[in-house]
Amino acid sequence: MSDSVSAQPSSPGLPKGAFQVLKVALPSPLRRLFDYLPAPRAPACGWQPGLRVRVPFGRRDVVGVVVSLASGSDLPRSQLRAIGEALDEAPLPSDWQWLCQFAARYYQHSLGDTMQHAMPARLRQGHPMAGRTQTLWLPLPNDETALARAPKQAELYALLRQHPHGLPGRAVSAHGFTREQLLALQKKGFIQPQEITLTAAQPTGGSLLASPSLPLNREQATALSVLHEKLDGYHPCLLEGVTGSGKTEIYLQLIEALAAKGKQSLVLVPEIGLTPQTLARFKSRFRVPVVALHSGLTDPERLDVWEAAANGRALVIIGTRSAIFTPLANPGAIIVDEEHDGSYKQHDGLRYHARDLAVARAHYHGIPLLLGSATPSFESLQQALTGAYRHLRLTQRPSRHPPAKLELIDLRHQRRQGGLLPSAIKAIKSTLAAGKQALIFINRRGFAPSLACHSCGWMAECGQCDARMTLHRQPPLLACHHCDSRRALPDACPDCGSGDLRALGSGTERTEETLQGLFPDTTVHRIDRDSTRKKESFEQVLKEIQRGEPCLLVGTQMLAKGHHLPHVTLVVVVNADGGLYAADFRALEHSAQLLEQVAGRAGRAAHPGRVLVQTLHPDDPHLGQLAEHGYGALARNLLEERRIAKLPPFCFMALLRVESPQEQAALALAQHAAQALRQWLKDANVPVRCLGPVPAPMERRQNRYHIHVMITADKRSHRHAAANWLVQWLEANREARKVRWSIDIDPQTLA
Ligand code: ADP
Ligand code: ZN
Ligand code: ZN
Repeated sequence: MSDSVSAQPSSPGLPKGAFQVLKVALPSPLRRLFDYLPAPRAPACGWQPGLRVRVPFGRRDVVGVVVSLASGSDLPRSQLRAIGEALDEAPLPSDWQWLCQFAARYYQHSLGDTMQHAMPARLRQGHPMAGRTQTLWLPLPNDETALARAPKQAELYALLRQHPHGLPGRAVSAHGFTREQLLALQKKGFIQPQEITLTAAQPTGGSLLASPSLPLNREQATALSVLHEKLDGYHPCLLEGVTGSGKTEIYLQLIEALAAKGKQSLVLVPEIGLTPQTLARFKSRFRVPVVALHSGLTDPERLDVWEAAANGRALVIIGTRSAIFTPLANPGAIIVDEEHDGSYKQHDGLRYHARDLAVARAHYHGIPLLLGSATPSFESLQQALTGAYRHLRLTQRPSRHPPAKLELIDLRHQRRQGGLLPSAIKAIKSTLAAGKQALIFINRRGFAPSLACHSCGWMAECGQCDARMTLHRQPPLLACHHCDSRRALPDACPDCGSGDLRALGSGTERTEETLQGLFPDTTVHRIDRDSTRKKESFEQVLKEIQRGEPCLLVGTQMLAKGHHLPHVTLVVVVNADGGLYAADFRALEHSAQLLEQVAGRAGRAAHPGRVLVQTLHPDDPHLGQLAEHGYGALARNLLEERRIAKLPPFCFMALLRVESPQEQAALALAQHAAQALRQWLKDANVPVRCLGPVPAPMERRQNRYHIHVMITADKRSHRHAAANWLVQWLEANREARKVRWSIDIDPQTLA
């Protein structure tokens, strides 16, 4: 197209009176698109859906994505503004566009916001793509003595001469050289730039593997052969394998089979699981390019990885939740490790579940989907039990030590030190004496979960939340773990003036202190969010633990998941009761998963392990079943209870959350919304239940009141219709503009 297009009343090919309009998704919570006229200069590909554009929006310029083309608008042409510029010469990858559309629709979210969330920051900010081409700097034969008076340039020239096939500019700057030095050398005729096109990874001929795969045991071999049956179609599989049973080895061999065909694998891991350890395991196996999307990347690096996936250069892409939005040029399989993990669900903005998007995406691409877990989510387990997913099972560990059984020990009527029973302390002592390590799991950071006055019963409470403050000693302060507000420790009770303030209960700091007192010659590592704020410290500690010196680890769930701790032979769970009698119907599922995962840290290598679980409810039937028969048995049992109670996965939920600093305002909107929805459900005859409004379990958080309305339906499509209607009603409602509200599709917690 030429520059004169904008001067014409309509684009060629359009009927009389019609004019070309581009519908653009913008970073706005509004669930609608915005109409623009084309920019004077069209991109090389012409105007197309998926083009990233810069447009005027209010008084700002924002980056958006063209979603569709139309010949006309509801607005008169004179009121439309033109697109500022197209930012790329080609549209964003079509699989990425599809996934954004799907996620926005399914989660009832604005498409513009969804797209912003789903693209790397650099693209969101309007930077150009790094491009599918790269500049390589090649050395030319020349007389280096001519550089005697420019030592830096001489050094750079020497470097490039060691790389006769050229070095990319980035590598040059990584060596500490500047662009000016490169240009100076170019001018003097010592080097020349060469543009190369980065294409899809070529089948490498020779071996794909840098290190050999392990010979599989029988169960692994069976599982892999089932996966091999269908590598070219949608093939959802649940790999239910006890902790340490060799699931990762199966992922690696599936990836290998696909890489041999030049196909890419996208591997999702939980937030806590993407350690250098994990990454090293994948990288050391393959000769083909393995890239990772993790929080340590800079924005340009992140864009680089994204593009490497989009143009097929990277064959293995590993990342946490948001990596599900990585485009793939030659999709081969999606693997979700620890598919039950809570970190796959995003709890604000676009409230998506990466595992569920993985299912949708594998279906769209027509590729295998492998969900792996020792403790599958009830959603996935139910699909496997009904045959909708292939059910693959690993019941044994290559190390031959079966996962240890949980031994329940009774917390009632017994003295504790730092939360630990005498029998637990004894077991820790003999573990250390045997030269091994023990892990003490306690799901509370800080010194103690509350501070109380022994004279009048006063408790330190958060001024902004319906919650108690946690006592910390390192450094000493009171902190609210819900809103992060902090206060200095009082010297005396603010109510009665008594100085007799006592710490109630135990957190990681107190248990650490107690253990250090009991075992003064042993290193005690505390691992929680407070102790590992510095990025490297966690890695450092893990490395030290892996050296195998006898030591004690006190930690929260940061320690419980995923890590291979070969020298740990004893696990002590300080309190197993958190999820037993909680109001949230998923609490028991989640706490059983956590217990089984923690227990799985014991005895993974050559030595058998022991797991002691302290509880106030040693007779609880669920806990008993978990201890006696393991997670799998308990989960199947609890699924029956869910079926009878008609709870997910036997119904589909959406949760409307309304919040406001004024309780009345939140309640009023929730009430009106629920009323309107009930009326519509009745009129439209849609079989959906609407419960509430009810106050959230913790109604006041950060001085805002939280009110819930719950929607449940037997069919996903009915739930979708109701949620969609509700969202539209709210968007059109004036009252709803004064309070904050959000809709959560398939909520994972009712908090
Ligand atoms: P999971 O992913 O199920 O927790 P991993 O794949 O981490 O289990 O395996 C646990 C340990 O067993 C690892 O050290 C791994 O190298 C080893 N392993 C896995 N499969 C085999 C096998 N077929 N033969 C020998 N060792 C194996
Ligand atoms: Zn008091
Ligand atoms: Zn608070």
